[in-house]
Amino acid sequence: MKTKKLPLAFWIFIGLAVGILAGIILIPLEIAGMTGVAFAKSYIKPWGDIFLNLLKFVVVPIVLFSIASGVISMQDIRKVGSVGGKTVIYYMCTTAFAVMLALILASVAKSTGIFSELRTEGLEYTPPEGKSIMSVIVDIFPSNPITPLANATMLQVIVISLFLGFGILLAGEKGLTAARVVDSFNEVFMRIMDLIIKLSPIGVACLICPVVAENGPSILGNLVAVLAVAYVGYIVHAVLVYSTTLGALAGVSPVKFFSNMAPAMMMAFSSASSVGTLPFTLECSEKLGARREVASFVLPLGATINMDGTAIYQGVCAVFIASAFGIDLTLGQMLTIVLTATLASVGTAGVPGAGMVMLTMVLQSVGVPVEGIALVAGIDRVFDMGRTTVNITGDAACAVIVSKMEDKKQARKK
Ligand code: ASP
Repeated sequence: MKTKKLPLAFWIFIGLAVGILAGIILIPLEIAGMTGVAFAKSYIKPWGDIFLNLLKFVVVPIVLFSIASGVISMQDIRKVGSVGGKTVIYYMCTTAFAVMLALILASVAKSTGIFSELRTEGLEYTPPEGKSIMSVIVDIFPSNPITPLANATMLQVIVISLFLGFGILLAGEKGLTAARVVDSFNEVFMRIMDLIIKLSPIGVACLICPVVAENGPSILGNLVAVLAVAYVGYIVHAVLVYSTTLGALAGVSPVKFFSNMAPAMMMAFSSASSVGTLPFTLECSEKLGARREVASFVLPLGATINMDGTAIYQGVCAVFIASAFGIDLTLGQMLTIVLTATLASVGTAGVPGAGMVMLTMVLQSVGVPVEGIALVAGIDRVFDMGRTTVNITGDAACAVIVSKMEDKKQARKK
């Protein structure tokens, strides 16, 4: 098993390196009458899009069947409650910690002059329709069972899947056929996912190449500082929070964890989509000892509601944009940011760019002009690659921890 899996991680890494290199080489070139950047966008990006489409195609059935089969194999609604409770507590606490870390780092950057007042006249950013917190909550519940599947509205798919699992458990004898059907489809879609994952080295290369070609030169200037602070936040959070919680609650070493997670992390980095990376996150966390029924419940939920990286990005950008406008945030405003960024990250879809849209809500909550988003919008993808990597790493850490805790609980009962 091991010798079969290792080469894939290696090839994904090669794909990532080749994609980055090709992106850099293409910047100054002219090919077939167009710039290298245009070539990358027109002829390389589509192959990455095909790969991402395939992942998205498989993700709705995977989430639908895997959560339901996770619930069914727990056999007891109380156990689902126990796993769900631990998961939500871990997700919320780590996300709130992530925002606080981001605010501390960004405040240090501000007080040392790394973040400063910038020219803000003429900035324009039209936020897409704003969402209130209540409407985010209402939107979790589907009013019909088909549309959420067709539109891949993940929170609603999760609700459908939970109800499907609960219904089958409550139906007892009569639910057995449905249970077998769910289990069988779960297996079938897992196999389809394996096939798609085999394409990942090529997919990763084609996804990262146009991003590098496009963003290469524009990463310069003032934005280096805000990017650097966000990336320091991502790394400190991942190393500090996941290593300590995994060590203390699951007895898993950070080296083991991060080396096993490498394929999923590289996929997240190049695709900037937690949902698209879900198949990888599932595989890697099972290798780390997460139980199938727990991982298949915790991970799709995490890909949808747990976004520590997004929360860090929102905290850092809120302070950066406020200082660009010469606004000093008070402690009360900082606490508001912790609350809204934690909630905003729950409402953020696990797709590229979603975190920036939700940043609107965070800025509005503390009265910082949303036009400031224009300052960071151009390089959002570079933020997004890092935040998505942290997002899925947090999901996997939770799956491993909750699995080990459930194992211990069961061992105690025996
Ligand atoms: N791209 C992120 C994710 O999929 C969400 C975001 O934009 O922050 O996890």
